[in-house]
Amino acid sequence: MDVINKFKNGLKKTSAFISKNIIFSLKSGSLDSETLNEIETVLISADIGLEVTQHLIAKIKNKKIKNDFDNSKLLNFLSEEITGILSKNEKKLIEDSEKSLKVFIFIGVNGSGKTTSIGKIIKKIHNNKKILVAACDTFRAAATNQLKEWSDQLKADFFQGSINQDPASVAYGACEKAKSENYDYLIIDTAGRLTNNTNLVNQLIKIKSVVSKSMLNFDIRTLLVLDGTNGSNMIRQVETFNKSLEVSGMIITKLDGTAKGGALISIAKKFEIPIHFVGLGEKEDDLVEFNADIFSRSILEIESYK
Ligand code: GDP
Ligand code: MG
Repeated sequence: MDVINKFKNGLKKTSAFISKNIIFSLKSGSLDSETLNEIETVLISADIGLEVTQHLIAKIKNKKIKNDFDNSKLLNFLSEEITGILSKNEKKLIEDSEKSLKVFIFIGVNGSGKTTSIGKIIKKIHNNKKILVAACDTFRAAATNQLKEWSDQLKADFFQGSINQDPASVAYGACEKAKSENYDYLIIDTAGRLTNNTNLVNQLIKIKSVVSKSMLNFDIRTLLVLDGTNGSNMIRQVETFNKSLEVSGMIITKLDGTAKGGALISIAKKFEIPIHFVGLGEKEDDLVEFNADIFSRSILEIESYK
């Protein structure tokens, strides 16, 4: 299935909500203030956020498309505006030409999709690259086993500590191995379940600090994985993690499981942080590079693509 169809299918719940309700608001055939209010309500209910919604409504008013408009013109106009907001967050994570060792530290709350996304990303890295995967979720044997299964299946090398070993010391061991054995990628999985957020963040700070010291001259990325079904609650998570850990990129998973996919737009508006990938299903190939234009056209059910 091509990328466009993946977005279209994966975002069906969100698009069914947004585009059907906008078209329903336009039933009167005119863009009067009552219709604009209804569109505003649809956008807010889709978790697009107040700021983006007001921006979009103001743009519709300014554009004075009132007299000569039809449904598809309005949807196209909205989609172009949304693409404009999202484009700055598009950024590749994996470039085939890269030479020196790259380190990805995956962070995020429990169940957000870190371990599965690591598996899906390993699959996207060219198979002539040497990959080391480090299990720094040392609290649960099941977490280590889940990661090991992905690594074995995709022929990446696997690094683990003993159960309950300090995750930062496991990360350190993995860094030293990655350097001395000339790996191209070191991918670090971390735990998301701790007694509270402060403890979780503190532990991640420690891991990151150890990695930064060991990998002084290498490209280190801190990748925040967010569960897309959380809608606008994702914003608080980005704030919490970014404040202490300087998030360099995001992956938003499970967009196939929610009508609140519009929250991705409010995140893009609020943060300059790139959105590298979106999760659009449970299968291995359902993690796709984020594309602003395809995303916005998909949620508005616009058939033509640039
Ligand atoms: P972790 O605790 O952050 O490591 O989360 P996991 O990687 O273990 O994922 C938790 C659950 O979310 C698993 O059942 C995954 O299959 C599921 N999951 C992850 N990404 C997606 C996605 O994009 N779509 C769907 N539908 N499920 C996903
Ligand atoms: Mg995990």
